[in-house]
Amino acid sequence: MKKTDGTSAIYVTQPVLPPLEEFMPYLEKIWANKILTNSGPFHQELEQALCDYLGVKHLCLFANATIALITALQSLRIHGEVITTPYSFVATAHSLLWNGIKPVFVDIDPETFNLDASKIEAAITPETSAIMPVHCYGRPCDVDRIQKIADNYGLKLIYDAAHAFGVQYRGESLLNFGDLAILSFHATKVFNTFEGGAIVCPDAKTKQHIDHLKNFGFVDEVTVVAPGINGKMSEFNAALGLLQLKGIDAVLDERRHIANLYRSKLSGVKGIICVPDIADTKPNNSYFPILVEADFAMSRDELFQKLRQHQIYARRYFYPLISDFPMYRGLASAAHSNLPVAREIASKVICLPIYPGLNEAELDTITALITQS
Ligand SMILES: *Cc1c(COP(=O)(O)O)cnc(C)c1O
Repeated sequence: MKKTDGTSAIYVTQPVLPPLEEFMPYLEKIWANKILTNSGPFHQELEQALCDYLGVKHLCLFANATIALITALQSLRIHGEVITTPYSFVATAHSLLWNGIKPVFVDIDPETFNLDASKIEAAITPETSAIMPVHCYGRPCDVDRIQKIADNYGLKLIYDAAHAFGVQYRGESLLNFGDLAILSFHATKVFNTFEGGAIVCPDAKTKQHIDHLKNFGFVDEVTVVAPGINGKMSEFNAALGLLQLKGIDAVLDERRHIANLYRSKLSGVKGIICVPDIADTKPNNSYFPILVEADFAMSRDELFQKLRQHQIYARRYFYPLISDFPMYRGLASAAHSNLPVAREIASKVICLPIYPGLNEAELDTITALITQS
């Protein structure tokens, strides 16, 4: 895409925006009925529409995924220690600190880049109350094995599913696994409401409790049942979500097309691995990670810088690891020796630009820079 200064830069993602004129009727409705927030008509409509589209039973909309993660932990009264991954966006672990919970980092699996289920049990202590894995890049965790560990040890299981909008695993929504799953509708995500998020929950009672928590704990005008927070999504964002949902299948189709082009154009390039999809999964192609191996012509960071010099702003998701940030690196579980696989993947990964509107000429520019290194 052309920037206003006349140069063309390509970013790792571009937000999807529906035609502005199609949004106007929604705004006119909001202006006419003057319901701006607090579970208004668009909010209710979007919750139902998302349940239908995603194939989940209940869902609570939020202002963003971070407040949804924080509230999810509150709703299950999680405390003490929670086992989580260092290979994610920093909000995953921050949501634990905001609840006074100690994150315990466990290494990732070299195939899925998600929590290594075989290493979870060794990290469980009497203080452990939950596991919080991430479906990184929307690629499913080893959900059966992690659920079995949670059941055996009486732990809650909360998935950070911020990347997993629309992902199907073994013929059903990936969001149906675990006690709760959290989605992000941030501008950079596959489905966006500018800012937004949701908690997917299994039953109406849980949904009601979470709905109370996100609205200060109010049950009615005079009854407050919990020290809730303000996590509500506004009518503006909910209306936008309804409009975005109309275009989501086209968005997912275009992402799949771009991913396929990358795979074919980068196949056989020595030292470049396109991370494969996981079996039995209908992916959402929310990211396009490649690994730059030692036998590639240059280092990962040299390739990253070369792309930048050509105004291709790829990203090293997820480098640095969460466990390397100052508020985490003092934890025993943040030790380098505890997280060898995460460190290795973080040192090799580049996420290439992928978004609807990235055209084949731009994609050719990107892949040529890689193949001609
Ligand atoms: C984007 C993201 C979040 C935070 O989402 P917000 O809606 O921006 O608060 C949390 N976890 C992961 C893995 C993310 O990618």
